[in-house]
This record gives sequence, C-alpha cells and structure tokens, in this order.
Amino acid sequence: MSYTIKSVGQVQYVDFDSLSHVRHGFSLRTGGVSQDHCESLNFTLNTGDTEENVKKNYEIFAEALGVESSSLCLSKQIHETVIERVDSSLAGNGLYTPQVFVSCDGLVTNDPHVSLVTFYADCCPIMVATPDGKAVGAAHGGWRGTAGRIAGLLVNKMETEFGCNPKDLKASVGPCIGKCCFETHCDVPDSMREQLGDMVDKFVEPIENGKFMVDLAGINRAILIEAGVKPENISVCDECTCCNPDKFYSHRRNGLRRGSMVAVITPK
Ligand SMILES: [Zn+2]
Repeated sequence: MSYTIKSVGQVQYVDFDSLSHVRHGFSLRTGGVSQDHCESLNFTLNTGDTEENVKKNYEIFAEALGVESSSLCLSKQIHETVIERVDSSLAGNGLYTPQVFVSCDGLVTNDPHVSLVTFYADCCPIMVATPDGKAVGAAHGGWRGTAGRIAGLLVNKMETEFGCNPKDLKASVGPCIGKCCFETHCDVPDSMREQLGDMVDKFVEPIENGKFMVDLAGINRAILIEAGVKPENISVCDECTCCNPDKFYSHRRNGLRRGSMVAVITPK
C-alpha cells in the first residue's frame, strides 16, 4: 500500500492509502505563514517561531484536513515510549490549553471530538486505525523510541484500550530520515539490537568509516508486523525528510534552524 501527496490550496500533506477511511495527514512545509528557516507550515515554538504564526498554521492545516482546530490534542515528545489514551476533555491540549503531559510520545483515542497531533523533523511517524475508523493512534519513533519498540507498544495499546485485533489494524509509516542520510555511530544499532534483537540487522548497513546507515522506517514497519499487523495493511511513505528540503523540515540537515511537521489523525 502506498500514499499520495494531497493539495488543498497551498497546503500539502501525505495521505496514506491504508488510512483513507479516517481524516488524517502528515504535513509538508508549504502553505503556512511562518518565515525564514520556519517557512512556512511550522508547528513548533521551540525553534524561534512566533506563537501567532504557529497557531495560525494549526488553523490552516486543520481546515485543510477537515477537522476542528479546537479538537487538536498535542503530544509531549521526549524520546520515551509513554502512550496516553485521550478523549475530548483534552481537546486543545498544548495549543489552546496548557500542555498536561510531561512524557507522551504517543496518543490513542476513540473519541471523534479529539484529533491526535504528533511532531516530526526526521523521526518516524507511525499511525494506526481500526477498520471502522472508530479508534486511532499515533506514535513518534525517533531512534530511541524505535529501539524501545514504540510502534509495537502502540499496537498493544490499541488492543488493551479498545479490544482491537492487530491483524485488522490499518497502519502507516513515514516520512522520516531515510537510510540514504541517517548515518550513525554504533550506539544506535547497538541499542536497537540489544532491545529488538536480530531483526534490526537487515536495516543497518555498516559503512567504511566505522559508522552505520540505518533504515528507521524499515525497522518500524518490521516492528508493526512483529506486533501482528499484516504487511498488506501498512502504507509506507519512503520519501526522505533530509533529502527533500522543499517538502520537509529536517533536524539532520538544519539542526534547530528548522520547523516541525505534524501527523494528525481523527477517529470517526
Ligand atoms: Zn536522504
């Protein structure tokens, strides 16, 4: 399964085939109001943008996806593996009301009045939905979260909270930094192998200088499959965030002189 880049006016986003039954999208950097290194659809205040711009960008993107901006519930990502269940009592969290989470790298809900928002600038977005679209989830897989099997924990959370069978779940992976650009020291593959076992080996390629190229999307897809999701139910966007400066922000490419993209998903 695959994806398309959809356009609504100047706004563009990745729309995954596997999630076509629910409102969702992964933002590209076009169509917002932010300037300079945050140009233009930036969703974070951490890298020098103004609150006014960021709020306006949320309104623009919510409208493009057909969701209420007041329904957006923002995660608090710190490269851990805590996944929280939320409902409409947390609509607006982190945007219109103070952020209640201290550590929250993933969200799940079955409340149609709340939309899940997670943030990216090279890390791997993972989204899931039940076949009827009544329960959804999203998780942020940086290398630490990926090593901590956050994609599998997301599947487990959908099971325990909503009684979902993993073999029925629809899922998406990416876009994130590709194997072409994700060069690491041995700490990354070592940590992944320690926690995930041999499965990581085929996604890690040693290179001449003692470093490694790592396929983050590939590992997260494999973790979803290991957790029981069927391969044919997973859409992958393999576009590299670091290689495509016109489409995506990238921490590897620009450090903190960048904005952040979001993945948004809303249940029926
Ligand atoms: Zn690349």
